[in-house]
Amino acid sequence: MTRKALLDDCFLHDKDRLRHDEALAILKKAVSPVVEIETVKLENALERLLAEKITAPRDVPMADNSAVDGYAFRHADFNDAGGFFPLQQRIAAGHTSDLKLAPLAAARIFTGAVMPPGADTIAMQEDCETHQQDGKDFVIVPQGLKKGANCRKAGEDVAEGSEILGNGQRLRPQDLAAIASTGRAEINVFKKLKVALVSTGDELRRPGEVITVGDVYDSNHFLLRGLCATLPVDVKDLGILKDDAALVETTLRKTAEEYDVVLTTGGASRGEEDHMLQALDTLGNRHMWQLAIKPGRPMMFGKIGKCTFLGLPGNPVAAMVCFLNYVRPVMNVLAGGDFIQPQSFQIPAAFDVPKKKPDRREFYRGFLEMDDNGLTTAHKFMRDGSGLITGLREADGLIEISEDVTSIEQGDLVKFLPFSGFGIR
Ligand code: AMP
Ligand code: MG
Repeated sequence: MTRKALLDDCFLHDKDRLRHDEALAILKKAVSPVVEIETVKLENALERLLAEKITAPRDVPMADNSAVDGYAFRHADFNDAGGFFPLQQRIAAGHTSDLKLAPLAAARIFTGAVMPPGADTIAMQEDCETHQQDGKDFVIVPQGLKKGANCRKAGEDVAEGSEILGNGQRLRPQDLAAIASTGRAEINVFKKLKVALVSTGDELRRPGEVITVGDVYDSNHFLLRGLCATLPVDVKDLGILKDDAALVETTLRKTAEEYDVVLTTGGASRGEEDHMLQALDTLGNRHMWQLAIKPGRPMMFGKIGKCTFLGLPGNPVAAMVCFLNYVRPVMNVLAGGDFIQPQSFQIPAAFDVPKKKPDRREFYRGFLEMDDNGLTTAHKFMRDGSGLITGLREADGLIEISEDVTSIEQGDLVKFLPFSGFGIR
């Protein structure tokens, strides 16, 4: 019997496995939004993905107004009046004045109040003196103010007709503020992606259950559930699936009919007790398999009907690294957004790696430290086994080392990906 070439890769060298960039390119090409659109109130739109383009229906601010509490005058009048202006009118925020500013006069004005017609410059009240003469109020404005000082121009924040936010953008607090400033109370967002979460393995038990030697608590469920919470998705817990080929296949078939995504952990290798691969090949299409990365080599991506299948390795570190690198951008696209890539910084390494295998990309768990001179360096955990949750917990992010690097010396710049850039707070 001839086997599919891709399946036979436990004998492959890293250079024959799928590279990180190739995997990203395949994923990016293979996915597009699957969710519908719904209208929500602005107060319920935080962290959702926008399903429309928001343009400004009018200038923000709508009219020229004052940036300070002070006195509005006509800059050209300054020399003639010698900075000594009679006060002609008073305008508070929320009020407008139709009264044109008289020649050689000033108006008392407050922050946010609309400028009176004719005025073009405002002096801060702290810089001015007031004066009374013959029962009339005057203001003495100091020298040196530029024309237009302390004025906010109409449309200087957002000009009428300009695009404020684009389709697919994740809505942050400041984005909602910008939408609110246009007067919109409701907006269109993408519905949340429906994700079914499945852990697989005879050895797994849920916290609260009794375990005996050989059993393992299902920590990945909580890891992945938490990671999913950084995306606009609704997670359904399908519990733990036993290592039983028929059961795995039936469960996947049924789940694929009801959810946008099935995200599994465990059973991703080619051991006799690993049934995910076989089930996926039977039910749908598998798009990738072994990756030239460490940790996290086996990672599945495929389609069962309309449902996207994402199969993560069982080792917690590998599961997290694969989630952050591959599952996160895929789910964000399916949910209506971009193929998001993490923020990264070049930071000097505080460690040596005398020998790194070529042809594969490595992700270390790392943390940053600042020395007495204010120089920040990247540290790597010495114990970096793929089953150790401790390093994940103590890390601030990942250190990404590319395929061509074969050694690292202290001081070499390395790519640091803070967890915060993956939405983990
Ligand atoms: P597998 O991918 O099923 O071969 O599992 C690889 C390793 O990860 C084994 O040591 C499993 O016991 C462990 N493992 C698998 N699933 C989980 C899980 N949900 N939580 C914690 N450890 C797991
Ligand atoms: Mg297993």
